[in-house]
Amino acid sequence: MKGRTVIVTGSTSGIGAALAEGFAAEGAQIVLNGLGEAGAIETARAALASRHGVEVIYHGADMARPEEIEDLVRTAETHFGAVDILVNNAGIQYTEVIEAFPAERWDALIAINLTAPFLAMRAALPGMKRRGWGRIVNIASNAGLGGSIRKSAYVAAKHGVVGLTKVAGLETAGTGVTCNAICPGWVKTPLVDVQIEDRAKRDGTSIAQATYDLLIDQQPSGRFTTCGQLSGAALFLCSSAADTMTGTTLTLDGGWMAS
Ligand code: NAD
Repeated sequence: MKGRTVIVTGSTSGIGAALAEGFAAEGAQIVLNGLGEAGAIETARAALASRHGVEVIYHGADMARPEEIEDLVRTAETHFGAVDILVNNAGIQYTEVIEAFPAERWDALIAINLTAPFLAMRAALPGMKRRGWGRIVNIASNAGLGGSIRKSAYVAAKHGVVGLTKVAGLETAGTGVTCNAICPGWVKTPLVDVQIEDRAKRDGTSIAQATYDLLIDQQPSGRFTTCGQLSGAALFLCSSAADTMTGTTLTLDGGWMAS
C-alpha cells in the first residue's frame, strides 16, 4: 500500500476508522472523512499519522451534499496527486415500518448510503482509469442481499450499492480498476449500539440479553464480525490476489446469508 492514497468516507467512527487504520498500517496515505467534534477528529488524525508514519489529512465533506463529495475527491487528488483507492463507507440507519417511515428520513438515508457512493465513484473513476489502476470498495451490508423488517430505506440503499458495484465492475473491466462490495453482518459499532438499546427497551430486557437476541436472530455464529476482520477484507480486495475479482460481494456475516 506504500504510495497509495486511500479515501475512507465515514472514517471518524466504527468500521471506517478501522479501515483507515488498516490501510495506514500498510503504509498508505489516508484521507479521513466523517462527522464529529473538530478537536477529537484532529487528535485522531494526528495519532493515526504518527502511529504508522504516513500522511493523513481530513476532509469534512457532508456526504449528503454532492458539491462537498466532489470537493473531497478533488482535494485528495490535488494534495496527494491521485486517489488510488476509494472506500465508500459512510452510512446511517433509521428503523421504522414502511407506513410510518418519515419521507425526509428516507431521502437522507438514500442520499448518504446510496447517492454518495455513486457521486464519489463518478468523481474518482476518471483518474483511476487514466492511471490504469484503482480500487473501489463499497461497504454494503447483508441488507444489500436480503430484506429486514423496519429497514426499508437501508435495505433499498444497500441493494442499490450492490447493484452499483456490479455496474462499476462491468464498466471498468479490463482497465486495471476493480469495484467490489463488502457485506458485513452485525458489527459492534455505534450504529448497532442504538439498535441494541432500542431492542432492550422494546423487549424490556438487559443490554446483554438484547445483544444476544439481536445476534442469534440472524447471525448463526452468535458472534459479531469485527472491524479488524473487515479491514483485512478491504486490504484483500486491494491486493493483487483480488486483481480479477470485480463487480461482486464479499460476505462476512457468521453464516447469516447461508440460512
Ligand atoms: P458508525 O455510526 O460507527 O460510523 C458511521 C460513519 O459515517 C461515521 O464516521 C459518521 O460520521 C459517518 N457519517 C454519517 N453521516 C455522514 C455524513 N452525512 N457525512 C459524512 N460522514 C457521515 O457506523 P458503522 O457501523 O461503522 O457503519 C459504517 C458502514 O458500515 C455503514 O455504511 C453501514 O451501513 C455499514 N454496515 C454496518 C454494519 C454494522 O453492523 N455496524 C453492518 C453492515 C454494514
